[in-house]
Amino acid sequence: AKNAGRNRLASFVPEMTLATQRRALLEAELRRAIEQHALVPYYQPQFDCRTGAMVGVEALLRWPHPQRGFVPPMEFIPVAEDTGLIVELGRWVLQRACDDAVAWDRAGAPPLTVAVNVSARQLKEKCFLDDVLTALHRSGLPPDRLELELTESLLMEDMEGAVAFMHAVRAAGVRLSIDDFGTGYSSLAYLQSFPINQLKVDRTFVQSLPVAGHTIATAVIALARGFGLSVIAEGVERPEQLEWLRAAGCDYAQGFLLGRPMPAADVLALTVARGEP
Ligand code: C2E
Ligand code: CA
Ligand code: CA
Ligand code: CA
Repeated sequence: AKNAGRNRLASFVPEMTLATQRRALLEAELRRAIEQHALVPYYQPQFDCRTGAMVGVEALLRWPHPQRGFVPPMEFIPVAEDTGLIVELGRWVLQRACDDAVAWDRAGAPPLTVAVNVSARQLKEKCFLDDVLTALHRSGLPPDRLELELTESLLMEDMEGAVAFMHAVRAAGVRLSIDDFGTGYSSLAYLQSFPINQLKVDRTFVQSLPVAGHTIATAVIALARGFGLSVIAEGVERPEQLEWLRAAGCDYAQGFLLGRPMPAADVLALTVARGEP
């Protein structure tokens, strides 16, 4: 027992060190990857539930690591947020997404909305509004084709700052969507005062459809209706989920059933393939 105790202690300390080292390594590698533009935006298609038309995409960052394959965003986004690297990375994704959308236009794709995820850390930076306007200006993308995805928790962190930002980007014509809706701790009262365009039903509610989750999904769709917002469901994996959402009056859907996140070139191929009679 004495030995076991000592072993536990002996292995505990190096493990902590290992985690810290791993994180430091990840940070250094991420920094280098950002400098070398080694990260790539993938795009997941979004569809109109009624017509089946592809209407937009969500930009999702991918990090192809030379040794470890694709590092999932769940691993590197928090590191980017903690270190502030997300500011530079976010600016870059924003520009790439706008540029790619314009490239699809020029190649003859139907006008797609491109949604970009925003971190709380980015919103805190004074320069973020400028970053958004610069990306639009440099790309020439019409502002109403760019959609920013904000989470409830991000909005709650600094309500006043967030509201000021939202009014400013809305005034510029950019669209706003509340991501992971229903998973935050915010009250519903804010929906009255936030200048948003869309609610995004979180994957956790969609996943259990149609057996469970329909009470919340129904409520979110009704809320969106009441406030004159559109509503999109994420994480649609099975036909019966899509069927349920369509019948419930959900406007848009996104998920593995309809399309996985893909490189920019594949988005173009997808619109061309779908556009053919
Ligand atoms: P999110 O914004 O909620 O993005 C949706 C996630 O669900 C994506 O994971 C997507 O690949 C995944 N997904 C889509 N359809 C399905 C489905 O049918 N089933 C399942 N099981 N999953 C589905 P991903 O790409 O791993 O991204 C994870 C998170 O990382 C994102 O969650 C977002 O919070 C963050 N993230 C990704 N790219 C960016 C970025 O450019 N900026 C910021 N700030 N965050 C990002
Ligand atoms: Ca999102
Ligand atoms: Ca989401
Ligand atoms: Ca999420």
